[in-house]
Amino acid sequence: MAKFSKKVLLFFLGLFLLGSVTTETLAHEMYYMGSSPISLKWNNIVSGRAQLKINGDNLSSFYTSSPNSYYSIARDSWNGAAGKVSCMQESFSSATVRFYTADATLWEFLFGLIFQYDFLGLAEIFSPSNAAIIDEYSAINSQGKIAYANILLTPYTSSFTNVTSVRYTMCHEIGHVLGLGHPDIGNPNPSTPQSIMLSSFTNQTYYSPQQHDLDDLTAKY
Ligand SMILES: [Zn+2]
Repeated sequence: MAKFSKKVLLFFLGLFLLGSVTTETLAHEMYYMGSSPISLKWNNIVSGRAQLKINGDNLSSFYTSSPNSYYSIARDSWNGAAGKVSCMQESFSSATVRFYTADATLWEFLFGLIFQYDFLGLAEIFSPSNAAIIDEYSAINSQGKIAYANILLTPYTSSFTNVTSVRYTMCHEIGHVLGLGHPDIGNPNPSTPQSIMLSSFTNQTYYSPQQHDLDDLTAKY
């Protein structure tokens, strides 16, 4: 299993269809919980906008091909959100947010043979010194700044219940990269607003940032 030693160091922030959740998210914001919670935020901000340089070259065609083009829809849905985000396509080598389709072996290794079909995506986040933010120590050293991210999506595309659930998941994971948490999990005051950041997809009809999410961005940036 040495092959996966790096992949074990993941920051589990997926979209969950069932319960059983790791919750390093507080309502509305992504934190690392520890002796004192550490709020996490995208590091590269220019003129008040979080600069996400994004690339989807490592996605399988299910996520990128027309007519659905899920990847470009998710990317564009955050660009300009609340006037706080620039989410622009970049080449793979210069991108700071890279999308991948996970391979099945990795997905089973991460989630086991019970939940591998329930987890649809997750975000790995890294500090400005390119260290995975996975625990209190690395969160403190990051100074709360997210500089790079990988977004991994399930290889089991039949896990998606419909087209909207694919779009919702991809948009949701970008929200984590921006430092947004699950409003329905954690404290204080968990709630279930109309939001792209709800921890599970339950037949929502939308797949882009909602007013709740724009408000969170405005507060954060
Ligand atoms: Zn999530």
